[in-house]
Amino acid sequence: MRYAVGVDLGGTNLRVAAVREDGEMLRQVRCGTQVERGRDAVIDEMAAAVRQLADEVSAAGTLAGVGIGVAGILDAHNGTVREAPNLPGWEEYPVRAEIERRLGSPVVLENDANAAAAGEAWLGAARGAGSMAMITLGTGVGGGIVLGGRIWPGSRGMAGEFGHVVIFPEGPRCNCGNRGCVEQYASASAVVRAAREWAARGEAAAIAREIERRGAEFSAKNIYELAAAGDGPSREIFRRAGETLGILLADLVNVLNLEVYVIGGGMAGAWEMFAPAMFAELRTRSFVYKATAPADAEEALRGETSPEARRAAAPATAVVRAQLGPDAGLIGAARLAMQAEK
Ligand SMILES: [Zn+2]
Repeated sequence: MRYAVGVDLGGTNLRVAAVREDGEMLRQVRCGTQVERGRDAVIDEMAAAVRQLADEVSAAGTLAGVGIGVAGILDAHNGTVREAPNLPGWEEYPVRAEIERRLGSPVVLENDANAAAAGEAWLGAARGAGSMAMITLGTGVGGGIVLGGRIWPGSRGMAGEFGHVVIFPEGPRCNCGNRGCVEQYASASAVVRAAREWAARGEAAAIAREIERRGAEFSAKNIYELAAAGDGPSREIFRRAGETLGILLADLVNVLNLEVYVIGGGMAGAWEMFAPAMFAELRTRSFVYKATAPADAEEALRGETSPEARRAAAPATAVVRAQLGPDAGLIGAARLAMQAEK
């Protein structure tokens, strides 16, 4: 049987996994990425980790290829990194060709959000679906589209940037140069920024106390805990994030009419805080969703409909939570390598 190696290259961790073509995870390793040692050192380390893993699982079958998920804007056509904030000095460097040369295996370079979408489509919340999109809520907001079992790359591999869809035209300035992007409301950093603003206005005593107590460690998770304990301003921040996601989803559903929309990333853990506003907006704003929504709205709100239950029901639009957690990108990167080889 064939297997592929998936690599998740983050700013602090390098994770490598060997995944068989039937979806069995053979082995997974994690090492710290020493980005400060420079690009060539990171590439050497990655190549060594892949080689070692491939040696360890060589009895399991033949290596189909290596898929690498990287946070940033890539040029899939050229196999180069256009912009990767976590990987200084990688821009305009032939990453794919360099790694292929060192490993002697075909390499696929993919944006980490696209890799996560490929993973959830293969073995996660959207398995068995012909079409899906994934929205990843992390420090930023990423996305990926899978059509007919394959990532829709766009002409240069840059499709699926859902984080930069405009929600409020006069909203806060985004790193991308636009204003009022999804990322400015529904990312972990946006939630933290909103909480600091509430506290600075003197309107959120509980948040202000938490900021004082946590200092620089103050995070979206702290705001989630306040919201779960009933704090009004914290709940309002997540409601706003949910409203934003609902508007985004309404547009995606109207334009794409896919089977499944998966919400993943760290912020998806706050599901019950943002899902009610998200579904309310989605229902109000998308006639396509209204026409295709699952019959049981309560069940839909939980976001945990299994792929089996989804397929057993009449064709509908499912919006569900991701299932693979941080492994989605790793599994997806391996999947993409396998698909590329065929
Ligand atoms: Zn933006």
